[in-house]
Amino acid sequence: MDWLKKHTKAVLIIIFAALVAYFSQFTVANWLVKQKIQEDAAVLSKLYSGLYRESFEQLKSLSTRISYQCDNEDIELMNQAKSGNLFVDYVDLHLPDKHSCSIYNSEKAGRPLGKFPPSDELDFGDVTLVMENSQFEEMRLHTSKGILRFIFQQPRNFLSNCEECLYMTVDVDGRTVQLYQHSNEPYWEVYEGPMGENRMMIKLYINQEGVDFLVGELVDMFSVLIVLLGVLFAVGFELNQTERKGLSGLLNEAIESNELKPFYQPIVQPEGSGYKVVGGEVLVRWLASNGEYIPPDTFIPLAEQNGAIDKITDQLVDNVLHHLKSIDLPERFFVSVNVSPSYLEKPDTAEKLLGKLKDSGIDPHILSLEITERTKFSDLNKAAECIETLTEQGISIKLDDCGTGYGAFSYLHILNIDTIKIDRMFVDGIGTENFKIKILDSILAFARESKLHVVAEGIENKTQADYLIGAGVEMLQGSYFGDPVPFDIFKTSFTPPTSLSSTHVLLQ
Ligand code: C2E
Ligand code: CA
Ligand code: CA
Repeated sequence: MDWLKKHTKAVLIIIFAALVAYFSQFTVANWLVKQKIQEDAAVLSKLYSGLYRESFEQLKSLSTRISYQCDNEDIELMNQAKSGNLFVDYVDLHLPDKHSCSIYNSEKAGRPLGKFPPSDELDFGDVTLVMENSQFEEMRLHTSKGILRFIFQQPRNFLSNCEECLYMTVDVDGRTVQLYQHSNEPYWEVYEGPMGENRMMIKLYINQEGVDFLVGELVDMFSVLIVLLGVLFAVGFELNQTERKGLSGLLNEAIESNELKPFYQPIVQPEGSGYKVVGGEVLVRWLASNGEYIPPDTFIPLAEQNGAIDKITDQLVDNVLHHLKSIDLPERFFVSVNVSPSYLEKPDTAEKLLGKLKDSGIDPHILSLEITERTKFSDLNKAAECIETLTEQGISIKLDDCGTGYGAFSYLHILNIDTIKIDRMFVDGIGTENFKIKILDSILAFARESKLHVVAEGIENKTQADYLIGAGVEMLQGSYFGDPVPFDIFKTSFTPPTSLSSTHVLLQ
C-alpha cells in the first residue's frame, strides 16, 4: 500500500498508457487494414471486373463456334470454356426441341433452366446475367438455335485462412451484388471505391477474425509498444523524482550545515583612466562536503520550487551582514543580494530584513536587492508593500536580467525599482555581428527617460566596457573587472592599502 502511495504517478502513467493502447487498437487496426486491403482491393476489383467481362466474351465466342448439336465437338468446346475461366463451374446447352446437354452429359443437362423473377435478371441484349441471393449465379446467351449457359462458382475469399471474415459488394446497375460468403458476425467497412473502368462501386467489409488474420500481430505489437513506452516514461519519471529528491535532500543538509557561502562580484564605475569598485553582487556558492562545486543554476531553480530559497536568502543575508560589519565601507558602497519573488511576498520579510540590519548596525543604504523574473510574482501587491517598507529605509531595489523576461517593464514602477541590470545576453554581442544594438539602445533610452540607474553585467572585455560607458551606462560588472570571489578577496578591491591587488579591477 505504501509502495503504491509512493509511486502513484508512475502507476497512473502506466495505466494511462494501457488505456491508450486498448482504446486506440480499433483505430490502429482500421488504419492498418485499410492500407493492406486497399492495395489488394484495387488488384482484385480489376481481376473480377475483367473476369465477368471475359465470361461475357467467352460465352459469345463459344456460341459462334458450337454447332448446337450437342455432339462431342460441342461438349469439348464447352469443356474448354469452363477450364479457361476460373469463375465458370458448369456449362450447358438447351436446344429448342427440349434436348439439352452439359459438359458432363451429352444426352441431358443435369441442371434445368430455372425461372427467375425479372428483378433478378440483368439484361444485356441477348445475354442475361442471373442473380440469386445477391450473387452472380448464371450467364445465359439466347439465340434462335438454343440457350447456352454458364453457371458460376462463387469467387473465393482472397484471405484463404478465413472464409467468412471478409466480403465484397459490387453495385451493378443499381443492384448490390455480394461476393464471397457472409457470416452473421458484425463487419466494418474498410474500402469503398470504383471498380475497374466501368465504374461499378465496390465495398469491402471485414470482421474481427479478418482483422486478426490480416494485421492482428501488428496491432498487438503496437499495443505492447505503447505500454512499453508508458513503462519507460514512468521509470524515467521515477528516476527524475529520485534525483530531484536526492538533490533537495542534499540542499537541505547544505543549508543546515551552512555550506552555502556568499561570493562577491565587484560592480565598478569608470574613474580617471581606470575603474572604481562601488559595490558588489552576492552570488551564492555551494561547496558540497565532497569538495564538489555545485553551480547555482542547478540548485537555485530547485530551491525556488521547493521553497528552500527563502531560507538560503536569509542565511546569505546573515553571512553578508556579518562580513560587512567587520570592515569600513567606502561612502555610497552597496552590496546586492539576489532575491526571488516569493521572498518579497512573505509578510514578515521587510520586518525581518530591517531587524537584521539593525542588529548588525549596518546602514540600510548599503543593502540592495536584485529581483529576477525566473519565477513569477503571485501577489504583486504584497511584494510592493514589502518593497515600500524597505525602500523607505533606504534599501535599493534592482531589476535583474532586464529585457529577458516578459512582464518586467510593467512592474518597474509598482515595485519601486531604481536600478536595472542589463543582462549578459545584450552585452555578449558588442563588437560582433550578433550585436542586438536595437534592444540595448531601447533599454538604455527607457532607463534614461524613467530616470533609472543602469548596471550592465557580463562584461568580458574592453570593447564591451568602452561601448557601454560611451552609451551612458553608469555601472559595470563582469569577469573583465573581477569574478565572484570570497569576501576576504573581495574586500581588498576597495579597502586601502591593498586595494587593486587581488581582483582584475586593480590591473586596469
Ligand atoms: P545573475 O544574478 O544574473 O548573476 C550573474 C551571473 O553571471 C553569475 O553566475 C555570475 O557568476 C555570472 N557572470 C558574471 N560575470 C560574468 C562574465 O563576465 N561572463 C560570464 N559568462 N558570466 C558572468 P552564477 O554565479 O553562476 O549565478 C547564476 C544565477 O543564479 C544568477 O544569475 C542568479 O540569478 C542566481 N543566483 C546566484 N546566487 C543567488 C542567490 O543568492 N539567490 C538567488 N535567488 N539567485 C541566485
Ligand atoms: Ca543578479
Ligand atoms: Ca543577471
